[in-house]
Amino acid sequence: MPEAQAIALEEHFAHPEFVARYGVAGPVQALTGPLTDRLPEMDAAGIDIQVLSHAPGAAQSLPAAEAISWSERINDHLAAAIDGNRRFAGFASLPMTDPDAAARELARTVGTLGFRGAMLHGLTNGVFPDDESHFPLYAEAERLGVPIYLHPSFPHPDVMRAYYSDWTARFPMFGMAAAGFTAETMVIAIRTMLGRIPELFPNLQFILGHMGEAIPFLLERIDESLARDNGGRRFFRERFLRHFHVTTSGNFSNAALICGLSEMGADRIMFSVDWPYVANRAGRDWIDAAPLTEEQRVSILHANARRLLRLP
Ligand code: ZN
Repeated sequence: MPEAQAIALEEHFAHPEFVARYGVAGPVQALTGPLTDRLPEMDAAGIDIQVLSHAPGAAQSLPAAEAISWSERINDHLAAAIDGNRRFAGFASLPMTDPDAAARELARTVGTLGFRGAMLHGLTNGVFPDDESHFPLYAEAERLGVPIYLHPSFPHPDVMRAYYSDWTARFPMFGMAAAGFTAETMVIAIRTMLGRIPELFPNLQFILGHMGEAIPFLLERIDESLARDNGGRRFFRERFLRHFHVTTSGNFSNAALICGLSEMGADRIMFSVDWPYVANRAGRDWIDAAPLTEEQRVSILHANARRLLRLP
C-alpha cells in the first residue's frame, strides 16, 4: 500500500558559491547538489514535497549591499533549481541588515518566484526578530499571507562565551542542537509575542521547528508567570496559539509530540525532517508509528502545510 503523502518544510539546500566563500556546516554535496539527487531518498521515505530553505543563514547578516545581492542570488538559484518541479517549494532568504529590502525581496520571491514564505536564522548581528525594524517585513508577510519560519542559528557570541564555551570543545553540539539553538530560538519566539507584533499583525504566522523549541512543554509556566506582570491577565498562550505553528524537524519524540498535541492541537503541528542533518526515513518511520489518529496523521503529514503554505 502506498504511504500517505508527506510534506516536509524544514529541508535545506545551499548555494554552491556561497558555501565556497563562507562555508557551511553539514554535508556539502547533499546541500549543493542538483535537487533531483535527493528524489530517490524522498521517494523511499514517502516524502512528496520538500519546502526548501538555505542552510547557512549568514546571508541575512552580511553588510546590507552584500546581503541584498546574496539573498537575490540564493533565491534565484533556488527558483531555477526547482524549475516548476512540484516536488519542491521554496522559502526565501532575506537580507535582514536592510529590513526594507527584506520586505521587498519577500514580495519579489513570493510574487514572481512562487515562494511560500521566508526563513530567518536567529539574530541579525545582535538585532532580535521582534525589533521594530523588522515590522515592514511582517507587514509584507501578512499582506502576502505567507509564514516566517524562525530557524535556530548560533547563539549570540556573549551567550556562547558565558553559557557554553567551557564545554563546547568536548561537546560542540551543546552550544548548538543539544541546547544552544533551542534556548536562543525559544527566547526569540517568546519575545515576538511580548510587544506590538500580535496587535499590529493579527494574521501573521510564524513557524518553529524541533517541536516548538520547548515552548509547548513550558506553555503553562510561561503563560502563568507572564500574567503576574500583566495584572493577572493571561495572554501568552492565546497569542502563541494564534501566531505559531510548529514542525517535528529533528525531534522525533512521541513524548514531545503528545505534549504538542495536548497544548497546540493537531492543526498547528506539521511534519518536517531537517534534511540533510536528519535522515528522511527516520522521520517517516517515527511519524508512521506515532500514537496519532488517522485524522491527526493526515493533518500533520500534509494537510496543515498545504493550508498554511497554500500548496496545490
Ligand atoms: Zn534546519
